[in-house]
Amino acid sequence: MHAGLLKEELRKLDSLLIKIADETKVPAGQALAVDREVFSKKVTKAIEENSLIEIIHKEVTNIEEIAKEGIVIIATGPLTSDGLIKKIQKITSQDKLYFYDAAAPIVTKNSINFDIAFYGNRYDQEKKKEESIEEWKKRVNNDKLQEQSYINLPMNKEEYENFCKELVNAQVVTLHEFEKKEIFEGCMPIEVMAKRGLDTLRFGPLKPVGFDDPRTAKRPYALVQLRQDDKQGALYNLVGFQTNLKFGEQKRVFSMIPGLENADFIKYGVMHRNTYINSSVLLDETYNLKSNTNIFFAGQITGVEGYVESISSGLVAAINASQKFKQKLGFKDTNKITFSEKTMIGALAKYISTENKHFQPMNANFGILPELEEKIKDKKEKYKKLSNISLSYLEKVIN
Ligand SMILES: Cc1cc2nc3c(=O)[nH]c(=O)nc-3n(C[C@H](O)[C@H](O)[C@H](O)COP(=O)(O)OP(=O)(O)OC[C@H]3O[C@@H](n4cnc5c(N)ncnc54)[C@H](O)[C@@H]3O)c2cc1C
Repeated sequence: MHAGLLKEELRKLDSLLIKIADETKVPAGQALAVDREVFSKKVTKAIEENSLIEIIHKEVTNIEEIAKEGIVIIATGPLTSDGLIKKIQKITSQDKLYFYDAAAPIVTKNSINFDIAFYGNRYDQEKKKEESIEEWKKRVNNDKLQEQSYINLPMNKEEYENFCKELVNAQVVTLHEFEKKEIFEGCMPIEVMAKRGLDTLRFGPLKPVGFDDPRTAKRPYALVQLRQDDKQGALYNLVGFQTNLKFGEQKRVFSMIPGLENADFIKYGVMHRNTYINSSVLLDETYNLKSNTNIFFAGQITGVEGYVESISSGLVAAINASQKFKQKLGFKDTNKITFSEKTMIGALAKYISTENKHFQPMNANFGILPELEEKIKDKKEKYKKLSNISLSYLEKVIN
């Protein structure tokens, strides 16, 4: 749904990559998944056949030199080469641009099924011997306690075993040797842990000790804990779920956890080397470097996260690089082209270029769009309204 709006906006702007993605799509419910081989071949072909593009296959590091006269878009992604990292550090006066990410997926609280989920901290939530069931329920249903506690998802034996079976067979992203070494020393992906034996998770991150399921007043067979991830308490991460599963696989397998069957994953788990600049002070909302306007950045290196988000940033950077080029040639009407923050394209550009002490990579999600003036409780209805507003703003830019 979130990336759905962004895709629709890009379709309207005639994005070549989205067009090819549509042509090469494979069935994946509402999500847009492509046949990677065919998609890549078609993209390569389209670039090779464009007579205005000259392709040079080599590592580029002499950015400053090129940017003296020319206009550069740096879109070298999460694995930007070391040589270029050094140059970017110099251009941006920033020391540390890359680090190892190990994050668990995040879901919205609203999308958790509370017929199954319950609040409580380990050992606090458990029914004490001297308590009657009524006393126990009264104690753990206390609002204050709920606010300060984990959300817990109990599993029975069958649910746990089915989940483990899918988890160990799910598709993972291939890591580079240097990533394996640096990451696995710190923490192990959940799917690797699950492969060690059927009970490993039950004695590890999914251990049920210290909890009783309010529906049965008994200890569940296994239990997943969710920890609050934002100040407002709207987002929760899956504790211990650092993973290398492909994003689509995370949605499929983690939605098998009882209580997460309709979960809205606003961020997927990652374990990889990442590289991004502090766009929040370095870039404007056209992805242009403030200190050297001949340089643009695009893709994951700007702090947007995800395929479609990278396409979106590339499109905005490219449109504005072309404006800049026309300006150099003496054309008229070469002002910067920005997108309203009420569109997902504009909201992402605004997010990455707004000062933020805790700047973190971001995917497209309705939370970065400005709030509606009217309060709409129904999530579907609210997103529909936000999407309509966004698309009508976009029409204005196009016309
Ligand atoms: C392990 C992993 C799994 C992911 N899985 C998903 C997923 O399933 N779904 C999703 O939406 N997003 C996923 N993401 C995020 C997604 O990969 C990125 O958001 C997106 O591919 C980034 O696109 P990009 O164009 O910025 O960089 P890339 O696609 O990485 O392209 C950058 C290119 O620049 C090249 N390059 C680097 N340095 C230089 C240099 N000095 N000179 C010349 N070329 C250079 C690189 O070799 C690379 O080919 C994943 C990311 C990672 C790291």
